[in-house]
Amino acid sequence: MQENSQAAEPQPASSKFVYDFTEGNRDLKDLLGGKGANLAEMTNLGLPVPPGFTITTEACRVYLESGSEPPALRDEVSAHLAALEQRMGRSLGQADDPLLVSVRSGAKFSMPGMMDTVLNIGLSDASVAGLAEKAGDERFAWDSYRRLIQMFGKTVLGVDGELFEEAIEEAKRAKGVAVDIELDAADLKELVERFKGIVSQETGGGFPQDPREQMDLAVRAVFDSWNTDRAKLYRRQERIPGDLGTAVNICSMVFGNLGPDSGTGVAFTRDPASGHQGVYGDYLQNAQGEDVVAGIRNTVPLAELERLDKPSYDQLMQIMETLELHYKDLCDIEFTIERGKLWMLQTRVGKRTAGAAFRIATQLVDQGLIDEAEALQRVNGVQLAQLMFPRFDDTAERELLGRGIAASPGAAVGKAVFDSYTAVKWSRSGEKVILIRRETNPDDLNGMIAANGILTSRGGKTSHAAVVARGMGKTCVCGAEELEVDTKRRRLTVEGAGKKTTVIEEGDLISIDGSTGRIYVGEVPVVPSPVVEYFEGRMHAGADDADGLVQAVHRIMAYADRMRRLSVRTNADTAEDAARARRFGAQGIGLCRTEHMFLGERREMVERLILADTDSEREDALGGLLPLQRADFVELFEAMDGLPVTVRLLDPPLHEFLPDITELSVRVALAESRKDANENDLRLLQAVHKLHEQNPMLGLRGVRLGLVIPGLFAMQVRAIAEAAAHRVEAKGDPRAEIMIPLVGTVQELEIIRDEAEQVIAEVEAATGTELGLSLGTMIELPRAALTAGQIAEAAEFFSFGTNDLTQTVWGFSRDDVEASFFTAYLEKGIFGVSPFETIDRDGVGSLVRHAVEAGRATRPDLKLGICGEHGGDPESVHFFHEVGLDYVSCSPFRIPVARLEAGRAAVQSKGSDSR
Ligand code: PEP
Ligand code: MG
Repeated sequence: MQENSQAAEPQPASSKFVYDFTEGNRDLKDLLGGKGANLAEMTNLGLPVPPGFTITTEACRVYLESGSEPPALRDEVSAHLAALEQRMGRSLGQADDPLLVSVRSGAKFSMPGMMDTVLNIGLSDASVAGLAEKAGDERFAWDSYRRLIQMFGKTVLGVDGELFEEAIEEAKRAKGVAVDIELDAADLKELVERFKGIVSQETGGGFPQDPREQMDLAVRAVFDSWNTDRAKLYRRQERIPGDLGTAVNICSMVFGNLGPDSGTGVAFTRDPASGHQGVYGDYLQNAQGEDVVAGIRNTVPLAELERLDKPSYDQLMQIMETLELHYKDLCDIEFTIERGKLWMLQTRVGKRTAGAAFRIATQLVDQGLIDEAEALQRVNGVQLAQLMFPRFDDTAERELLGRGIAASPGAAVGKAVFDSYTAVKWSRSGEKVILIRRETNPDDLNGMIAANGILTSRGGKTSHAAVVARGMGKTCVCGAEELEVDTKRRRLTVEGAGKKTTVIEEGDLISIDGSTGRIYVGEVPVVPSPVVEYFEGRMHAGADDADGLVQAVHRIMAYADRMRRLSVRTNADTAEDAARARRFGAQGIGLCRTEHMFLGERREMVERLILADTDSEREDALGGLLPLQRADFVELFEAMDGLPVTVRLLDPPLHEFLPDITELSVRVALAESRKDANENDLRLLQAVHKLHEQNPMLGLRGVRLGLVIPGLFAMQVRAIAEAAAHRVEAKGDPRAEIMIPLVGTVQELEIIRDEAEQVIAEVEAATGTELGLSLGTMIELPRAALTAGQIAEAAEFFSFGTNDLTQTVWGFSRDDVEASFFTAYLEKGIFGVSPFETIDRDGVGSLVRHAVEAGRATRPDLKLGICGEHGGDPESVHFFHEVGLDYVSCSPFRIPVARLEAGRAAVQSKGSDSR
């Protein structure tokens, strides 16, 4: 992600558009794409890579900008092709012994399946017989030719692929066979004619017989495939710049389908699922790569190759070791064996599961291949978060019902329900439910909140269900297309293998795994994550039974803590949350939202405060709240003894503490019709009407409450000061910080500050204790950020409230937009991720940056933190490190992620400083 947001690096205006595999290296990904750079690297290592060359991304960019290939390209390709032909001892499409090539796309960032590839370029009516002769296999030659026409027809000439598929089906029907491999040479020869007919009919021209023309057209098609709609959308979502272009790799073909001494496979230098060291991979004898993907036949484990072809196997093992030592990481590999000769077709640093990432990083440190700083770059906070979700017990029996897209991680079990109303009703009566829908929409929100997990049969990772579930931290599997969801009859049906049909009725138990997308019948037992057990202190990394994963996490966290500059605090309002956060490594509280202390039974007292007509009524109400608040703070300061605790004075609009306007109106109307209206209800209704606001988030809240409700903030400040004094007396070490929310101008802050200082002085005088309380403000309005230089005159610290700041900078009502139109925004690629989740660097971020600079210019020792949701978001943590904040604050569960990312950010910025 980080890396992806860089723009295309300016390239020297050179006329070199083509690099032989011997000329490139792995650092040239900008120019040669990932695939080309790694092919070159392997070639330089002396590994058996089929010879070839790469056309640069720069050539692609020229083509995309000007509409035609750079004039020098043709000659350069000719020169490289001639060299290739000379090395191979035959020419492209040579009639008696044709050199064939593959033309493959390969951009700087992997864009799986987004762009095009054409194999077997060079085959023609003239050379197919030569290939048959040389290979000694007529069927193979005709099959290769039909594959070429099919792939070329579809990707280069734009013929509907279905037409070719239908023709194959027809050929199989005519012969009475079930699979392609049962078609013999004569059948395939006929199919080639049929395919050529399709091409002529659809394009008005024939299939090009000139090998060079085939190659040039295929290269152009790969260039063009950079700008297909699906590629554009993918890039927008993954934040890959649209102007990078793709490289094109032209590689001499080797064939794994030339008989039993040939084959193809994929391999990993260690297990990408568990991280265990050792050989891992699959092999398919007598086959080409696309057969593996098509799943026509079953692959065998790589170890089987040792039995089939020991020399190739031994060589492969050797190469895998070379690659791992060279890349200092897990590599994944594609290889082909052509008549007993091993060829490497691709390598790259391989994808792995979250658990494997942690294990591998520490293994590599132990092997002395990487240092601790590098180990931190091999893992990330998203992976750590995945490891912290509860999961299904691996040892339990289970029946797989189907699979969907892993949209929001976790393991959820519950009774199947098919509408939101039932979800809410059943969950209210204590049932755990899984809400199953074809797709969800904003009307399903209540059901989604009530459900333990969400399952849909349609929609991808950015569907409404997926986006909302992730926002709620709720387990979700979406797009499980094999499930037939019938909401009318309240059941789901799955046609399984062997015509077995499973029906799940409303109320039946079902289990969904949001980390893998798997769906199970019945209840699969859930176990807590060992990583959470470790953070909770219930499992020790040194203990004999600690699994390797916990040990790896423990070590990586220690590296991160050693290297990070940012402190990590928590958002917590209760002693219990504070204590857990401390176990998880919090270094204080960055935000205690005091409104949560005014709920439940205390709400009535707030009502009294709001309804007070006279000073004495108001003081009475405040007097009732004071000891309760004080007791809350005593507990909190005790739980965080010795660490800073930032207490925010009341923020939300007061109507939140009053009954709902409609409910109360109905109650009063009914009472009036019975002529027994309750005096208090009438006063309440008046107050509710008086406090009603069109846009409460922009109304009477935050510092504005403190300014218009006499005594409210003074009471809170007194409670904080008295609680601190109490803790000092009890030999504790309270470090309270008082924070004023929603300030827009320094004048607001000055008034509250004067009042607070007076109260603190009174408490200090009365208790004879110096409390050392500091006073600061939140920066959550654009005006506050813009005038931060002035505000810093009255504030000892700033804490960025990036939730409100995002809301006010974008003009998005955060309670409304995520469920209403964010799905559309994500689908249109306007942003890849909600700005409420990851900080919008360009907009909100630039205000933060400005406020940091202006604030510190006024007050160099100004303490700076962030307490919005972004404080626990991996990418945002990097931004806060970059702009020089002192700490981030997030919910207790996200603290480990913030610690890890703060460490990674420190390492990355060191790396970029020294560059
Ligand atoms: C914020 O606005 O970022 C913040 C932390 O305050 P709240 O979410 O309570 O409005
Ligand atoms: Mg706020």
